Amino acid sequence: MPFSLLPKTIVPALPDLTPRKLGLMGVQVLMLDFDNTVVPYTNDLPSPAIRAWLRTMDRAGVQLCVVSNSKKDRVKQFCAQWNLPCYTHCRKPSTRGLQQAAQSLGVRPEDCALAGDQIFTDTLAANRAGMRSILVKPIHLHTPWLWLRHLLEQPFIFIAKRRNAL
Ligand SMILES: [Mg+2]
Repeated sequence: MPFSLLPKTIVPALPDLTPRKLGLMGVQVLMLDFDNTVVPYTNDLPSPAIRAWLRTMDRAGVQLCVVSNSKKDRVKQFCAQWNLPCYTHCRKPSTRGLQQAAQSLGVRPEDCALAGDQIFTDTLAANRAGMRSILVKPIHLHTPWLWLRHLLEQPFIFIAKRRNAL
């Protein structure tokens, strides 16, 4: 289980992950972090672009699920509304929640990717679990703490971008 803070793939937002791109990456299940990846912390309404993307993925038959550290009902309510398998209390960067999700969906970790906005939880958990780590930009940094954490992530983003460009 490699300890790496470098995302394998970096995209601006979820809609950049098209069914075709995911197919080329060999991704069978795309796991999604919830807060600041699908919706901002401050509301439960996905943007029109995210809603369109969720419908596109559904039509294309791409299996999605949500893997969140949150314990809040808002995650479950969202998943029920969009008919997505929902795994909460995942405790990323622990790999246990991701492994349980992969197991219950009947896929190997290496056939999964996890898209999330945080290096120290999402990227690290995906890499440790042997899944493809995909970093997206946080939707909205609404507190100084989120800004600070995002600042601390910058060196890893810089190195990953350089490495991925080679
Ligand atoms: Mg997040």
